[in-house]
Amino acid sequence: METPVPLHPKLDNGVTRGSPAFGGGTLVCACADRAVRIRIAGGIAHNHACGCTKCWKPEGATFSIVAVTPHENVSVLENGDKLEVVDPTALIRRHRCKECGVHMYGPVEREHAFQGLDFIHPERFEESGWPEPTFAAFVSSIIEGGVDPSRMNSVRNHLRQLGLEPYDCLSPELMDIIATWTARRSGALKS
Ligand SMILES: [Zn+2]
Ligand SMILES: [Zn+2]
Repeated sequence: METPVPLHPKLDNGVTRGSPAFGGGTLVCACADRAVRIRIAGGIAHNHACGCTKCWKPEGATFSIVAVTPHENVSVLENGDKLEVVDPTALIRRHRCKECGVHMYGPVEREHAFQGLDFIHPERFEESGWPEPTFAAFVSSIIEGGVDPSRMNSVRNHLRQLGLEPYDCLSPELMDIIATWTARRSGALKS
């Protein structure tokens, strides 16, 4: 048996269930000195594993863990001078720490179904209890990150064993939200 493709440190040994009552906390970057600290004043939603090549992930991980929270919940507490925008042209304006590289928050400011939401990485919470990831998105994209295509069956099976249904875009629920927004905008849907 080949050793399994490592997914993420918070997934490989089983998923820790969070609390639906989780009400936010403080995200901290990886710097030992002058860490960036971001306050999230509310709950998070749609937590999932993501296989895209744009999300921040810890060393050795194949997937990120990423969720959203309304932008008004997000405020910089400390050392915001260390933040920079990874790619100003991207839909998600990911703000990372210039020193350690951890992405701290990523607002969607453009007109889009996700406008007004910020993408965050719950594993950076100081507090425990954040709701666990419930699906895996952009799974095929891990090949773009260098995973051999022959490993994909075992990766998808591993994700299913963990209770994370693998999708090659977003979950059906999120894809429906995007399509509904687009259809209302074009007039194809009247309500
Ligand atoms: Zn840092
Ligand atoms: Zn991603």
